[in-house]
Parts: sequence; C-alpha cells; structure tokens
Amino acid sequence: MREARGRLSLPINGEKVLAPATYLLCPRCGEIVLRAHEARRLDEDAIAIYRKRHGLLSADEMRAIRDRLGLNQATLARLLGLGANTISRWEAGRNVQSVAMDILLRLVRDVPGSVAYLRKRAA
Ligand SMILES: [Zn+2]
Repeated sequence: MREARGRLSLPINGEKVLAPATYLLCPRCGEIVLRAHEARRLDEDAIAIYRKRHGLLSADEMRAIRDRLGLNQATLARLLGLGANTISRWEAGRNVQSVAMDILLRLVRDVPGSVAYLRKRAA
C-alpha cells in the first residue's frame, strides 16, 4: 500500500459527488483504503460540494444563523421539531439538510419574530 491522492466518488442523497481525498492505494490490485480521519474528511468535503452545487446553506452559514439567534444546537433542533443531534450533524458536515429544512432555516434567519413563534409553538 502506498499513499495516494485523487478524487473519489461518494453518493450524497443518491447523487454522485467527486471530492478530493488522500488514501492508501494497493499498486497491484488498485484497492483503495481510507483511514478513519480521511473517510470523515471525504464525507465532509463531499457534503460541502453537494451543498454548494444545490445552493444550500453551508455548515458555517447554518452556525452563523444559530449564533445570531443565540440558540444552541439542541434548542434549535427542538424548536424545529428535529432530532436532538440533527443540527450538530449538519454543522459538522456529517449529514446534509433537506431543501425544505434549508428554506426553513432561511425563514428563521430573515423573518423577524420567527423564533418567538417557534418558542410559543414548542411551549
Ligand atoms: Zn492489492
């Protein structure tokens, strides 16, 4: 096995995304092995590329919205009716938000009173 670099294809929401990666390559059979941190990095990069391609909010943009609203990940997740770890997975680039949730996050960012409405509804 030797260290190699190249673009690997990953399925994100059933769509092929090519992302740059470092990995171990067997020169004889062409087998590719990713170490755990490389696999994690590839997932994150592929999700970032997918978000850009589809005009979805980036992890940083989602974090900025939440910070501006003064909410932690678990609270925002609860207000939006999501599982407790969903926002954390989005911000860490381990999962990608749906188009509907992306629109909802923009709505909460852009429409004053949204958080108050969600709080009232969740109470
Ligand atoms: Zn081999």
